This record gives sequence, C-alpha cells and structure tokens, in this order.
Amino acid sequence: MTKNSDAWARALKVMPGGVNSPVRAFKAVGGDPRFIVSGQGSRICDLDGREYIDFVGAWGPMILGHAEPRVTAAIRKAAEGGTSFGAPTPAETILAEMVIDAVPSVEVVRFVNSGTEATMAAIRLARGFTGRSKILKFAGCYHGHSDGLLVKAGSGATTLGVPDSAGVPASIASETLVACYNDIEDVDRLLALHEKAIAAIILEPVAGNMGVIPPNEGFLEVLRERCNATGTVLIFDEVMSGFRVARGGAQWRFGITPDLTCLGKIIGGGLPVGAYGGRPEIMKMVSPSGPVYQAGTNSGNPIAMAAGIATMEQLTSELYSSLEARARRLAAGLENAVAGRGIVQHVGSMMTLFFLTRESLEAALATGEPLDSLQCYDDLFAVDKETYAKFHLHCLDRGIYLPPSAYEAFFLSAAHSDEDLDRFIAVTEEFCRNIT
Ligand code: PLP
Repeated sequence: MTKNSDAWARALKVMPGGVNSPVRAFKAVGGDPRFIVSGQGSRICDLDGREYIDFVGAWGPMILGHAEPRVTAAIRKAAEGGTSFGAPTPAETILAEMVIDAVPSVEVVRFVNSGTEATMAAIRLARGFTGRSKILKFAGCYHGHSDGLLVKAGSGATTLGVPDSAGVPASIASETLVACYNDIEDVDRLLALHEKAIAAIILEPVAGNMGVIPPNEGFLEVLRERCNATGTVLIFDEVMSGFRVARGGAQWRFGITPDLTCLGKIIGGGLPVGAYGGRPEIMKMVSPSGPVYQAGTNSGNPIAMAAGIATMEQLTSELYSSLEARARRLAAGLENAVAGRGIVQHVGSMMTLFFLTRESLEAALATGEPLDSLQCYDDLFAVDKETYAKFHLHCLDRGIYLPPSAYEAFFLSAAHSDEDLDRFIAVTEEFCRNIT
C-alpha cells in the first residue's frame, strides 16, 4: 500500500466519496485521486513524492503559480496581524478599488466567500431589482451549487451523469429556464414565452464548465440587446473567466458590458473569495443600503483580501500578453498532436483538449462538414470520454496533472515554462501515436 492509497482509504471512511468536492474523486477517469502535499510554481507534489506539472491550477485561481513568494508573504503578514475581525478592514476597500478599476461593468462590489455565493446573491439581487422571479441560464454553464442554478449545470453534473441534483425542489427548478449556448433563437423563444417574467439571463461569457466553449461572434452582443429590450438583468458569471481571459475578464475582451458580474477564483489568489458587482443603481439594492439581504461572517476576510491584492498587483498587461502567446503555442502543439482524433478550444489561457469519438468524426465527414468546433452542450455527445480517461492516466504517469474529467478547462499560469509546455505536447504526441 502506498501512502497515497492509504490516505484515500482513510478519506473514504470519513467524507462522502472521500472528498469535499465531487470532481476530485476521479470517478470519471478512474484510479485513485492524488493527495497533494505541496506546490511550487508550476509543480505540485503528491504524498508518495511524485511531482507533476500542474495544469489544473486549483481550477483556475493559481494564475501566478503555486506559493508565489509575494502572495505567500502577504498572507503571512496578514495572518500575523489577526485572522478575522468581522469588522471593516482597509484591505477590503483596496481590493474593491482594484476590481472596479479592472472590470468594466463593476462600479460597486460586494465580497463573499465563493463563486457559488456570488452567483446566488447576484440572482437574488436581479430578482429584487426587477420584481420578477424567473432566470434564464444555458445548458452546460455551471454557476455553483445553489438550488436554482443546479439545472443542466455542466461538468460536475455531466461527469457524474446527474444533470440535476436530488434535493432541489421542483418548484425552485421550475423558476429556471434553460437555453442552448450560442443559440439566440432559443433565447428568443424563451423570452417570448415568458415575457416580462425573466429577472436575469446568466451565463459564463466564455463557457468553461462543459470544457472551453467560446461565445460565437455576436452572441454576447445580441444577449445585451435582448436584455435592454426586455428590462432583463444580464449577469456575466466571470468566476472562471474574470482576470483569466484578460484583466478585465471576458467583458473587456469581447467589449460587452453586463449589468452584474460575478467573480471568484483569481481575485482570492488561492484563498476563498467571491464577489458580485455592477452599477450603483442596482448595487444600492443590497443590504444594508437596500432591501436585498446578503451577509457573511467571513466575507472580506483579511487574509483572503491580502492574497487577492498581492495577486492583482502582479496581473500586468505584460503577464497577459505572455500567457496569451504561450497559450497559443500550447494549443497549436496539442492540436497538431491530436489531429484527426480531437480538437483544442481555448480563449487565452483557459483551454480544453476534446478527444472526439470515431463515429462522430466519421458522421461529420460524411456530411461534408468536418467537426472542428463544439459550440454548445448538445455538441458534447461527440466527446470521447473513454479516450480522455486513458489520456489522463497516461499524463499522470508521466508527471502531467490534468483535470479528472473530459469536460473541464485546464489553465496556464505565469509559472509554466516553455519546457513545461513542450513536455505536455510531447506526452500528448506519445499518447496519440499509440491510441488505436
Ligand atoms: N461559476 C463558475 C463559472 C465556476 O466555474 C464556478 C466554479 O468552478 C462557480 C461559479 C462556483 O464557484 P465556487 O466553486 O467557488 O463556489
């Protein structure tokens, strides 16, 4: 028995499925999850002393790599000054100013503890602001695990084969309408059917939770128009894309300003932080300045704020240009390696390598339209998750740590070297040479 398998056996006895978040259990790819004991730069190390080049990056936050010295120093300093006060601290205002400065739609911001809290609160706010109850989301977009948003909710659900969750009352799910991503006609159909009843349209402006699916040209723009025309609040869930696809997020990259924005992951520098924000007219509805209640014992926690500030201070335009260039290089290398068996989709440094089933590739060829992009949840039928599971194990055995699901994004960080990327490409080439 290795130390890792021993740790897994112990964990399985005391936590549901052995984990505190489902996808970590490796159910979709098989094998035991690796227990990680340390991380430094682009590398993580498991209990048995094996080192991996990490492309999961804590599911997005670690844009600077692990244990980045300035972030670590800021955390240490904040901790030495007291870990939590439940009272205002100057660091909250500093991080708020940084977020507002970077994200076009955000003029006023409220910090919470997770992405789930951010989207849940943003939905409540949109309902309070409009006096309407329904929300419209897109199949395959994940917005955290609050009841009303666990409907056709992307990777976790897709991976485990449960599109909805037990325990969500039908009455709550019925307030959630689901449209097809990148399909304006479907949105129009639902808007017409539920005229003036929809409080908000919420989406990942770059989908990352069904694998990376970029918005088609004009998609975000038309959603903006439809929301203007119907008095619906447009919410961009930028928990993953915020400070990832650009400092100002997808809204900056694509030039479309939502009414509300949800953030998380990177703004906490690896500590638990979420945020939602928008223009004052809407945000003034939030308690205590308005009637929409939302609170948190640990919201704006001083250590989390310190980690966020130290991270944001380093997110320069040079850093994004370099990430962008290296992401293009990696995508090209991987695409070349999987040619004829898969495709790579990415927006900046968030990326997915989709293996595709032979049947879907052949069927597409027969129609004369090669399968060269996936644009919505329904397209995922073409994904070959069995081959991905084999690829995942192949990579793990060669020191490359990838998401344990075929329907997730992986991430580049500033700490990944060219050698790290070359190694990933070489390991992928080796796999593709040998798949049958
Ligand atoms: N929204 C998006 C787009 C996410 O990717 C996630 C998590 O992956 C969430 C919301 C939920 O965030 P958290 O896991 O911090 O609750």
